[in-house]
Order: sequence, then C-alpha cells, then structure tokens
Amino acid sequence: MESKQAQSRFIVLLGAPGAGKGTQAAYLEEVLGIPHVSSGDLFRENLRNETGLGKLARSYMDKGELVPDEVTIAMVKERLARPDCAGGAVLDGFPRTIAQAQALDEILAETGRRVGIVPYIKVPDDVLLARLAGRWTCRQCEAVYHELFNPPKIAGKCDVCGGELYQRADDTPETQRRRIEVYFQQTTPLIEYYRDRGLLVEIDGAQSIERVQADLLAAIQSGSQS
Ligand code: ADP
Ligand code: ADP
Ligand code: ZN
Repeated sequence: MESKQAQSRFIVLLGAPGAGKGTQAAYLEEVLGIPHVSSGDLFRENLRNETGLGKLARSYMDKGELVPDEVTIAMVKERLARPDCAGGAVLDGFPRTIAQAQALDEILAETGRRVGIVPYIKVPDDVLLARLAGRWTCRQCEAVYHELFNPPKIAGKCDVCGGELYQRADDTPETQRRRIEVYFQQTTPLIEYYRDRGLLVEIDGAQSIERVQADLLAAIQSGSQS
C-alpha cells in the first residue's frame, strides 16, 4: 500500500508559460510535503553559479527556446535521485517534450515509481501575456509574485525570505511570445500523451490563485485514491 501512495505522489503540472505552475507548485510543496522540482529554477541556479550547464542553457533561455533534451533530462534525473524525492515530487516545467516525458517514465520506472496525476492548468492566451508581463521573482528563493494579481507585502521585497525581487530577462514581450509559441509546438503534445494514459485532469487556471489551489488539491486527493 505504501508504494502505491508513493507512486501517486509524482505530480506533473502542465500548462503554458504564465499559467501559474510555479505558483501552484510552491503551494503543493507546502501542503503535501513533497519537493517542488522546477527545471527552470534548476537552470537559473546554474546560471547564477556560472556552471558549464548554466552557460550552455543561457543562450536557449534568452531566446525562449528549449534547452536540448539530453542535458535537461540529465539535470532532472540527478535532482529526482536525491533522497527528498523518494516519496514524490511536484514537477513544474518538466517534461516539456515527448522525449522528456518518455525519459521521465523510464527514470521513475527504474526505482518502481511512476507519474500519478497530471493536472493541466488551462489559461487563455491573452491572460498568459498579462501574467508574464507583471511577474516578479525572488532572486534568493524563486518565489513568484505579480505586481497586480499577487503583490508582495512590501514592494520589491520577497514575503518569504526578504530577498530582492526582479523581472526575469526572458520576460520581455518578444521572448514571452516565442516561449508561448514553443509551448504550442513542443509541449502541447504532452496533453494527449498523458490523456491517453488516463492521468490528465483539466484545471481552470483563469480563476483566482486560491480557487486554482482548491481545485488542484481536490483533483490530487481524489486521484490518489484510485
Ligand atoms: P515559465 O515559468 O515562464 O514557463 P521556466 O522557468 O519553466 O519558464 O523556463 C524558462 C526557460 O528555461 C525556458 O524558456 C527554457 O529555455 C528553459 N527550460 C526550462 N525547462 C525546460 C525543459 N523541461 N526543457 C527545455 N528547456 C527548459
Ligand atoms: P508559470 O510557472 O506557469 O510560468 P507562474 O506561477 O510564474 O507561472 O505565474 C505567472 C504570473 O502570474 C506570476 O506573476 C504569478 O504571480 C501570476 N499568477 C499565477 N497564478 C495566477 C492566478 N490564478 N491569477 C492571477 N495571477 C496569477
Ligand atoms: Zn524569497
């Protein structure tokens, strides 16, 4: 029984850039007690530390293109092998291609685990752009705010850690548009991939943050009983 519960606690959040994956993953991490694994955050950590991987990733990230599968898969594989992910994780931003989804299935299968549920956070395009345009991120802890929809208590400062908030270099209008295009070309096929496997649950992401949280939690709780 224990293993069945552990299996269902690998949650893959699907949704376009700006849909609210990072915001909701931070919430799920807190209420479910499983780590939030964000490929974007892992890349940004590598950029900050000026690693070889960071240098390679930067040229893709600045243009809004995907970092090649091989390096992305290796980075996430290493993260999922750490002990805190043994009982599950909330995956945000990975997988983004069919090859990554297949690799994820293999990585989890190696240790008798599998994806339990795939909430797809659906948001209309015009809403995505408004969300990305007002997004501010904490330099220290990657907490995400919105200047209108979810402002910090003190302007420019993170509620969680007091860190400085900044606007991501890839949140320019041009890069935003490209990221949304890349999402439609390369990531939307995952919707069918997971629907075919009976794992997809659609969530209305155009609602308030609190409403989306409630719908997500309800879907995860009812999904994990089967
Ligand atoms: P957003 O939250 O706006 O969707 P992310 O922080 O997830 O953006 O990703 C930022 C950038 O990092 C992407 O545009 C891409 O260049 C790179 N990236 C993140 N995750 C992946 C992935 N799974 N595969 C390839 N590239 C990725
Ligand atoms: P993603 O990780 O999918 O790219 P984020 O979680 O970074 O999305 O959210 C994008 C922006 O939209 C952030 O500024 C965030 O504060 C805001 N946001 C997230 N969810 C909602 C929501 N339900 N309503 C309004 N704004 C939201
Ligand atoms: Zn912070």
